[in-house]
Amino acid sequence: MMTLSQCHIRGIRILFRGGCIRKISDSKYTVRSRAHSDWYAVRWREKKWRCECADFRKNRGPCEHIYSVLYLLRLPTILLLNTNYEAFICPRCGAEPDMTTSKGGRDNKTGRVQIFKCKNCGHKFSSTLGFSKPRHDPLLITAAIDLYMKNLSFRQVQQHLEMIYGCEVTPMTVHNWVKRYTKLVTNYAENLRPNVGGEWHADEMVVKIKQSHAYLWNVLDRKTRFLLVSTLTKGRGVKEATRILREAVGSAGKKPGRLVTDALKSYNKAVGSLKVRQHISGPKFSNPSNNNLIERLHGTLRTRYDGLRALGGVRSGATLADGILFNYNFIRPHLGLDGSTPAEAAGIRVKSRNKWHYFITAAKRHKNRKALCRQGNRRTNTSLHSQRC
Ligand SMILES: [Zn+2]
Ligand SMILES: [Zn+2]
Repeated sequence: MMTLSQCHIRGIRILFRGGCIRKISDSKYTVRSRAHSDWYAVRWREKKWRCECADFRKNRGPCEHIYSVLYLLRLPTILLLNTNYEAFICPRCGAEPDMTTSKGGRDNKTGRVQIFKCKNCGHKFSSTLGFSKPRHDPLLITAAIDLYMKNLSFRQVQQHLEMIYGCEVTPMTVHNWVKRYTKLVTNYAENLRPNVGGEWHADEMVVKIKQSHAYLWNVLDRKTRFLLVSTLTKGRGVKEATRILREAVGSAGKKPGRLVTDALKSYNKAVGSLKVRQHISGPKFSNPSNNNLIERLHGTLRTRYDGLRALGGVRSGATLADGILFNYNFIRPHLGLDGSTPAEAAGIRVKSRNKWHYFITAAKRHKNRKALCRQGNRRTNTSLHSQRC
């Protein structure tokens, strides 16, 4: 027996035929009628999609024209949910996607938000998890962040979204997405412990910021190419070198057996205070431990930094450096690692194709669980509970 109403099926038919839906604005579309060549206006008004056809006037419920628009808006979500296995993991208990069932959804201005229910813990969650009240589709948001990380400017990303997807945003909105979501995933990544090797390479390079310049420090693990630190500072003295090496140890959870650096003197004292077993300073290119691994990385990073016209000082430059670091470690396939990311080489596996989407939802799941733990702690106030968190 058919469960999908006739209006749904007709709406899908209109969509599949092509050329029958025209976008006038975010809140107005026109849809061609089946029988005649009339066009009906479908408008978002008073928190509801409304059509001017006789069916809508009679039933006051969604007609085939409204469904055609809703399915059109939903296409990016349909694509995302069918190509990213981990999009359905329960945000409360972490149950596998096989344990979640669809519970219908609600229609809003940007399409239909699908609701899922976890069979394990009963928790309900939506297909826009991790994207707080998005006015645009999560797939388009992640596409925008990815394009930006691939060296396009905010304006170029905005032009691409408008030309290819008919998605109207300002370059400022793209900027805000990049800022908000890189901060979210960067905070989450601090909880992930990469399984790195024992030989690290450290180097620093000059980056121009407005009229002055700053230093971008990088510490890279040779085996996995995982970038343990990528930080901007104003100076390059012992204080900064020590801070950078300590950060690298913090992010790896261990000290390196061998550290290869350039010839900068600041490293000597910093390495001394960390008690690293072997320090190779300013190796020659004939030396097998030479630093050209990281020099190559600098080439990659420099392209990215040179593409940025106005870095608003070290602070906002630092947010960007965090984003570039995350992209390098977790998103971008590494040619030297057979197309794996450094994070994957370091044991942090992701099955989803859309890695930005995966990490944004994973960050949100992590936040949810931490909030639940805090609530639990407040209620029980026992040390046992805080240990579990
Ligand atoms: Zn209608
Ligand atoms: Zn669950």
